[in-house]
Amino acid sequence: MTREEEIPDWVGAKEFYDKYVPKEILGRGVSSVVRRCISKQTGHEYAVKIIDITSDKLTQQEIQELQESTAKEIDILKKVRGEQNIIQLIDYFESKAFFFLVFDLMKRGELFDYLTEQVTLSEKETRKIMRALLEVVQFLHSQNIVHRDLKPENILLDDDRNIKLTDFGFSCQIDHGEMLKEICGTPGYLAPEIIQCSMDENHQGYGKEIDLWSSGVIMYTLLAGSPPFWHRKQMFMLRMILAGNYEFGSPEWDDRSDTVKDLISRMLVIDPKKRCTASEALAHPFFQQYVVQEVRHFSPYRKFKVICTTVLASVKIYYHYRRVKPVTKEIVMRDPYAMKTIRKMIDACAFRIYGHWVKKGQAQNRAALFENTPKTILLSLTGEA
Ligand code: ADP
Ligand code: MG
Repeated sequence: MTREEEIPDWVGAKEFYDKYVPKEILGRGVSSVVRRCISKQTGHEYAVKIIDITSDKLTQQEIQELQESTAKEIDILKKVRGEQNIIQLIDYFESKAFFFLVFDLMKRGELFDYLTEQVTLSEKETRKIMRALLEVVQFLHSQNIVHRDLKPENILLDDDRNIKLTDFGFSCQIDHGEMLKEICGTPGYLAPEIIQCSMDENHQGYGKEIDLWSSGVIMYTLLAGSPPFWHRKQMFMLRMILAGNYEFGSPEWDDRSDTVKDLISRMLVIDPKKRCTASEALAHPFFQQYVVQEVRHFSPYRKFKVICTTVLASVKIYYHYRRVKPVTKEIVMRDPYAMKTIRKMIDACAFRIYGHWVKKGQAQNRAALFENTPKTILLSLTGEA
């Protein structure tokens, strides 16, 4: 029985539309549209990636490749199910014309959009994101899975701004020591060995290390707000990547630590054999900071003391607050000097007028300031007062 005979045109599509109601578009890829959708049974929201495999623009060979790559994507998504920082595939349906991949909905969208909104991220926030990303990469590589399209557009954020890696469309599982030759990925994030591979048919191929290069590009971009390799003309950009030509320019990198720059420079290494692995990156001093969370153990006596101090402080604050009277125009006019903020202002003005601090009780008291007319101020400045 052939594949076409196995799957009637409409079965998968009908199953999807029986279970879900598709809503607005959340994002688009080359041959997919991602929409919010709602489960008819539970009312829960999800995201559905609809992959169109019948586009007029595609050749028969491209259609077949797309079918195969989507099947591979589903297979890998099933293998990585349950991983904390990877998007969860909830359901999938296949018809002759479309694939429907139902995922958990990430309402906060892409890391790319978050970065655009924030311009740059702090080292602390970068640490949180990169630790999660590198842990995912470490896990994938331990399963011999190479993602091949790591970039901020494929990193989604959940409600607590934890990352969820998505888009396993270019991912593949390799045998131990197997080298890849297929040219895929996104230009600015391509590792030099992929570009070399595309230029030399005798090239030995590339491996998992490419994900560490892309991770380095992401990390640089999060901190600088712009990518390390960029040129209006793609040809020049690829040349920059091949030469590893990037810099920690001023002023973006002026306030960044040497530790963070050191880690990036260990990821953006041209030779894949010398590039750090995900485990090595996670062991870097950059990730050793802020790890230890102080755990305090209070004895019952200390607990009691802390509770008493808190209650007393709250009572004190409450009574102080009750004693505070509202400031009215009358109070300000009667005794302006009694109020701290106005007193400070008066002192500052007095200093400017008299050239020295005016002490209360002396011939020139601070209240005299209010008696000043433009004429007396002039006289006091000229010393004739
Ligand atoms: P493609 O392979 O076509 O690039 P992606 O899986 O990367 O498809 O999805 C395209 C875009 O759709 C993403 O960059 C993102 O903006 C949006 N998207 C994908 N999955 C989700 C999701 N689970 N929740 C919210 N938005 C999503
Ligand atoms: Mg994508």
